[in-house]
Amino acid sequence: MIYCVEDERNIRELIVYTLETSGFEARGFSDGAQFFKGMEEKKPDLILLDIMLPGEDGMEILKKLKRNSDTDHIPVIMVTAKGAEYDKVLGLDTGADDYIAKPFGMMEFVARVKAVLRRSNKDIQQSGREYTAGKLKVQVDQHRVMVDDNPVALTLKEFEVLRYLLENRGIVLTRNQLLEHIWGYDFDGETRTVDVHIRTLRQKLGEAGEMIETVRGVGYRIGGNQ
Ligand code: CA
Repeated sequence: MIYCVEDERNIRELIVYTLETSGFEARGFSDGAQFFKGMEEKKPDLILLDIMLPGEDGMEILKKLKRNSDTDHIPVIMVTAKGAEYDKVLGLDTGADDYIAKPFGMMEFVARVKAVLRRSNKDIQQSGREYTAGKLKVQVDQHRVMVDDNPVALTLKEFEVLRYLLENRGIVLTRNQLLEHIWGYDFDGETRTVDVHIRTLRQKLGEAGEMIETVRGVGYRIGGNQ
């Protein structure tokens, strides 16, 4: 089940229709109040969240979802207007799993939805792996990241970036490799998305973040000397 919060009726209906014809169950809501009512009845597998909404806006709704342990694991795709708003949310550490700028093509839209769902399913299925590197400890199945035994809250994408770097420890990964592996489709040259996620990842990991090396002109690497 996919929930879509969008106040513009035409867009909402088009999204729900597109998802349904792609084989998903989908439900549309025109504002936050209706959406949270729907959340009490049933939790979806994915939420599509418009930013400009009457009442609570999309960013406030997202914050609420991420603060609640019943909903913080549900992936969220933010739907934004193109331009300044898109650039702004891309640079924010909102906890969203992806961003789509309006207007978007329906093929691209469905590809993004599938990529986010694929990643979150993969997270649930994988089990038993643990990585340690210096002060950093990552328990893949619990989705847990610790630095010096203190838990660090990462978004799904930041977690994926960290895990992919650890899986390939000592190897330089290019921005394109990271994009293709983590975003699951050709991002059309938006490699700054990778840089934004690396930056927030480093910040959140504090001292342990220094293990993520920038290899100039190539990409990123973790723990090259171990
Ligand atoms: Ca809107």
